[in-house]
Amino acid sequence: MTAIDATTPELIPSLLPSLLAARAGGFRPSPVRDFWEVSMEPDVISLAGGNPDLSVLPLAELGEVATRAIAERGLEVLQYGGGAGTPGAREAAARTMAAEGVVADPQHVQVTAGSQMALDLVVKLLCDPGDVILAEGPSYVGAIGLFVGMQVDVVHVPIDDDGLVPAALEDTIARVRAEGRRIKALYTIPNFHNPSGVTLAAERRPEVVRICRDAGITIIEDNPYGLLSFDGTSQPSLQAMDPDNVIYLGSFSKVVAPGLRVGWAVAPEPMRRPLQLASEATVICASVLSQAVVEEYVLRHDWLGVLGRARSLYAGRAAAVLGALAATAPAGVTWSVPRGGFFTWVTLPEGTDVHRVLDAAIDRRVVFVPGSAFHADGSGANQLRLAFSLEQEDVLVEGVTRLMAAVAEVAGL
Ligand code: PMP
Repeated sequence: MTAIDATTPELIPSLLPSLLAARAGGFRPSPVRDFWEVSMEPDVISLAGGNPDLSVLPLAELGEVATRAIAERGLEVLQYGGGAGTPGAREAAARTMAAEGVVADPQHVQVTAGSQMALDLVVKLLCDPGDVILAEGPSYVGAIGLFVGMQVDVVHVPIDDDGLVPAALEDTIARVRAEGRRIKALYTIPNFHNPSGVTLAAERRPEVVRICRDAGITIIEDNPYGLLSFDGTSQPSLQAMDPDNVIYLGSFSKVVAPGLRVGWAVAPEPMRRPLQLASEATVICASVLSQAVVEEYVLRHDWLGVLGRARSLYAGRAAAVLGALAATAPAGVTWSVPRGGFFTWVTLPEGTDVHRVLDAAIDRRVVFVPGSAFHADGSGANQLRLAFSLEQEDVLVEGVTRLMAAVAEVAGL
């Protein structure tokens, strides 16, 4: 008898009712990963994946750091570690927040295997199936995928060039509550938002914090890009404004390296113990070796100097993309102007089908992620995300030029 492979995609629907939990059907492939194969073809220009450019990393130095960690502290770093993280990694996380002007006690840091895991734990602790999480429209595809997979309903809050619109947040809360639904959290990416590239304006921050506090809604502040401003400035953190109502998520993925898989959460006091227990139930502890590398690199090397070089690289690439858009975009196409991070968000003329644009773009050997991927409600049909973090400036200009030719063809412009 042939063994049934439950991972075979076509078998999953028929097996679902009998073998798998109801939530198993909720986990979907990431649309960004869908483009992985085509974006790997040598003649394709990828404006799809938001990976950091690791070419700036001092690899020899990091190699020595890793070798020394094993050679000198092998019995410690190859052993299980504490459930909240190693003292060194917790200190490194607090120092990273301090680099943005946020004061955090290392004792309050929960280290996780990337901030994606921190988000997973937070949703597990906050939400029951059918609960609502508010999120910017558009929002991070990995968060939407997680929320939907956990049977949490995502309701989007409109944004503009200054991020979340406070009046729209208030309206959305009132509307969702009038429908009798329970809102558990606002999930927000205030700095250099993925995918829109916008940053929540400083004057809106206290207002967003106040609205959520008054409404009894926890804020999940996801801040993987905060240190990646093009001009070296930082915005005030929501967590610092209301530490009792904000769960802060941080990550070394975009400022050191994602392959290390080290992120963290700083939660209000009553959540810290449950967070650690949930983390222990999931991974026992995050990789102690990775934490040792982060500790040594962040606490004893000029990592902010390296990051400064990365920031200039990204700033140059953003300028190249924005310049190419200004030079080649057909009338009626608009885009956000990021002040940091990896992304710009493009809106095509009303009625332009972004999936037809994607087909035409792939014909011209360029890929991007369509806007619908960043919405839980099917919006974004005429929008798209451009990532500028990984390609060289001249390649980005060529990519945008080809893409705008595809837009012109599909929109009949
Ligand atoms: N949040 C946002 C907004 C992201 O863009 C990402 C990574 N793309 C993550 C969280 C997850 O990061 P990590 O590698 O730390 O899990």
